Amino acid sequence: MPNRLNPVTIPYTKHQITDIDIAYVKEVLCSDFITQGSMVNKFEEQILDILEFEYGDALAVNSGTSALHLACLALGVSKGDLVWTSPLTFAASANCARMCGARVDFVDVDPITGCMDTISLEEKLYSSPIPPKVVIPVHYAGHSCQMKKVKELANKYGFSIIEDACHALGGKYLDKYIGSCEFSDAVVFSFHPAKAITTGEGGMVLTNNPEIGEKIRRLRSHGIEKDKSKFKYLNSPTDIDKVGWFYEQWDLGYNYRMTDIQAALGFSQSLRLEEYQKRRRDIADRYQRELNKEFLTLPCETSEEVDHAWHLYVVQVLNYRNNLYEYLHSLGIYVQVHYPPVHLHPYYQELKYKKGDFPVAERLYYHRLLSLPMYPSLTEDQQSMVIYLINRYFK
Ligand SMILES: *Cc1c(COP(=O)(O)O)cnc(C)c1O
Repeated sequence: MPNRLNPVTIPYTKHQITDIDIAYVKEVLCSDFITQGSMVNKFEEQILDILEFEYGDALAVNSGTSALHLACLALGVSKGDLVWTSPLTFAASANCARMCGARVDFVDVDPITGCMDTISLEEKLYSSPIPPKVVIPVHYAGHSCQMKKVKELANKYGFSIIEDACHALGGKYLDKYIGSCEFSDAVVFSFHPAKAITTGEGGMVLTNNPEIGEKIRRLRSHGIEKDKSKFKYLNSPTDIDKVGWFYEQWDLGYNYRMTDIQAALGFSQSLRLEEYQKRRRDIADRYQRELNKEFLTLPCETSEEVDHAWHLYVVQVLNYRNNLYEYLHSLGIYVQVHYPPVHLHPYYQELKYKKGDFPVAERLYYHRLLSLPMYPSLTEDQQSMVIYLINRYFK
């Protein structure tokens, strides 16, 4: 067993690269094309296939943040618009709106799931003079938000929905994979190494609205349209069939392309997504059986509607969370706290948010949340050690 002189190293999350992954990447490296090309298409199709999203569009980009930014742009978010998201998330969920010049506001979270609370959302909509243009619910830790309710409110108040599903690849809501856009206009995933599968850096937008899909396809590559049949005009009187070199820039776009090198890694990783999900579920089940439940509140699926993706295993520590954090770190178990609420960052404080604005998210962050090790390659012995050390701490 580890002690202060003999620590182990167990992170809260960890990616896994296999020889097969390396072989896929090497094949691209040795080919004639290395940036966005056929491998990106193949990866996109594979994700649609895995998520059983038959009539959807999948657009791979170079990060989850880029995916959020492009989803906002494609939904027309611009200066003066209002976007609402959760305060208990990674800053990118809010930054994407700021990148479009929009104002950001937050809706406090449910104290059990950490997801945007739909009762608070309804109250805020009711009392706001102007409704938001877009609401971005975050499936915190991999637990779906109550999307049926969010969609109902969207229909009533006329806002669009982007699901920040960066935690939720492989999870389900109402028996459908998260990503199917049943209750939203777009869904965003990240392939950062901390996430379910990785491309190093990378992200994806899924949508079932072809117009949004087309717009994102252009925006990720400079706003350029290359499809001749769609050209708005030609700048020379030449016969259209002869101008093979011609393209048009329609919007102010970005270079947010994913490379084929990254897509090869993502494609190979995605072949293991189901196996990874099963392993994550097993780890969660074992924590549930064996961890102390007197001093910890363990995460759960709050209704039949939710199949948790178990991206993070976030417990709530009833007392002295920081002490437990220090204790585990001193033994080499690198638990983490997700997240410092977005509205408390200096940047958002300058935008006039203050402590106390979103009390549930703040209470969870300051006193309760702790992300325990959760990743497919966590061994049984390692998990035994984590469980033993935590339970011993509370004795
Ligand atoms: C990881 C993450 C992002 C950003 O993804 P990147 O690929 O790192 O840009 C956005 N939102 C949430 C909730 C995330 O966890």
